[in-house]
Amino acid sequence: MIHVENLTKYYHQFCAVDQISFDVPKGEILGLLGPNGAGKTTTMRMMTGFLAPSSGEILIKNLSITENPLEVKKIMGYLPESAPLYHDMLVFDYLHYVADIRELQPSVKPGRIRDLADLCALNDVMHKTIGELSKGYKQRVGLAHAMMSDPEILVLDEPTSGLDPNQIIEIREIIKKIGKEKTIFLSTHILTEAEATCDRIIIIHKGRIAADDRTEKLIQTAGNKSVINLCVQGATFEEVNTLITGIPGISRTEKGEEGGQTLKLKAFCDVAEDLRPAIYEKIKATPWLLLEFVRETRSLETIFRDLTKEN
Ligand code: ATP
Repeated sequence: MIHVENLTKYYHQFCAVDQISFDVPKGEILGLLGPNGAGKTTTMRMMTGFLAPSSGEILIKNLSITENPLEVKKIMGYLPESAPLYHDMLVFDYLHYVADIRELQPSVKPGRIRDLADLCALNDVMHKTIGELSKGYKQRVGLAHAMMSDPEILVLDEPTSGLDPNQIIEIREIIKKIGKEKTIFLSTHILTEAEATCDRIIIIHKGRIAADDRTEKLIQTAGNKSVINLCVQGATFEEVNTLITGIPGISRTEKGEEGGQTLKLKAFCDVAEDLRPAIYEKIKATPWLLLEFVRETRSLETIFRDLTKEN
């Protein structure tokens, strides 16, 4: 449905999106997850034809967005980060106005507006002006706008940004409902958001893809990772490191605080199995004292932090 290849965007000398490639199949809810400034909005603006790429290719249903911008825009609905709405219009009038600019036939227009008002739960506010709506309701009007022409693909830039927890849940439910029929590409910097809504997550950092996998696979991979914190007396970091890095499943060690005779270190494990017995067997054969021995399992959040932290 969507094919993105080596997509790159420079703002003058600054590379905001750096050769990213991915495909989105029909019917998938894909989350583009990344911290502020990662390049999410830039990617979405290029995918919806609002920003020209510096290089790379975007095909929407095999149509190049740069060569067929109008045709592609008919297939896509786009909800930008702050939906541009006319605040002095009634919701009802605004939806009719959007239907007219989308050239909906008069015979289908009332039915479509009714369906969207039901789907986006707008019936209670149809006769209110947009300016007096809460942010959550404004976002629903923006969603209804993006869906007016019944597009096959919806691109939603931070759809729950700035909403309170109840509003977030409501918008999430609407997105999931829409996702049963449409292909959805949404961006967020909130991990729980991506976890709750998306079939697949692409983690983007400094314009590059840091991870791309099915949501459940990412969560499972995270669950398979753990860190064992050790505090040892009577050994140097090099000695402990040499002893335990040979254990299958330990990917690396990291030196922590050192004080007097004691040394703290972390052993990073890439297997689901608890490697403490294997470490203990090795340390038991040395004259060192083991003062601390704690295993922490890794969550998707710590993986996200590892992938996106500075440096
Ligand atoms: P946020 O979550 O804060 O919205 P984002 O992941 O959407 O961030 P972008 O808005 O795509 O990130 O910005 C990516 C980088 O490009 C940032 O460093 C930003 O400062 C820079 N940038 C964005 N737009 C421009 C522009 N018009 N001119 C120069 N630099 C820009």
